[in-house]
Amino acid sequence: MSSHFVPDRRFRTFSDLTPEYLHSIGVRALILDVDNTLEPYENPLPGEPVRRWIASLKEAGIVCGIVSNNGKGRIGVFGGELSLPTICHAAKPFSRSVRKMIAVLGAKREETALLGDQIFTDVWAAKNAGIRAFLVPPIRDRSDPLTKCKRFLEKPFLRKYQKLHPDEQNREENL
Ligand SMILES: [Mg+2]
Repeated sequence: MSSHFVPDRRFRTFSDLTPEYLHSIGVRALILDVDNTLEPYENPLPGEPVRRWIASLKEAGIVCGIVSNNGKGRIGVFGGELSLPTICHAAKPFSRSVRKMIAVLGAKREETALLGDQIFTDVWAAKNAGIRAFLVPPIRDRSDPLTKCKRFLEKPFLRKYQKLHPDEQNREENL
């Protein structure tokens, strides 16, 4: 089973990924997905928890950027509110936009990670770019057939993650 689809670490929500943890693993640049990672599709602006979390990362010296497959209207406004560099229409899982953002952030691959909610776009894109991948469950998942199919296909990789991280078993069951 390809490790390209297995995240390096799962979190219950974005704010569980702390500056302290990032420092402890030598990550100083964080690339962020927006939709269903930071806010659901229908929220055009970052909420207070997102603003606070981004501020805490910046304060700790972590540089952040947004790489999203969504369009300029949505992502430009969202990134502008947080004063973050953005790349829209990113075509994840292809790695080009991720590699571009690594350069924008002035980071090396080994000190960069990506946080997203989808294995076949976010995790795969991170692995294609040679950086670490962090996964959160989608904030408010869609219930259309395509999304259900994607979630079904993600399951074996989430099981593999659990096998690799038995210490997180109890926590994972609650995700
Ligand atoms: Mg997403």
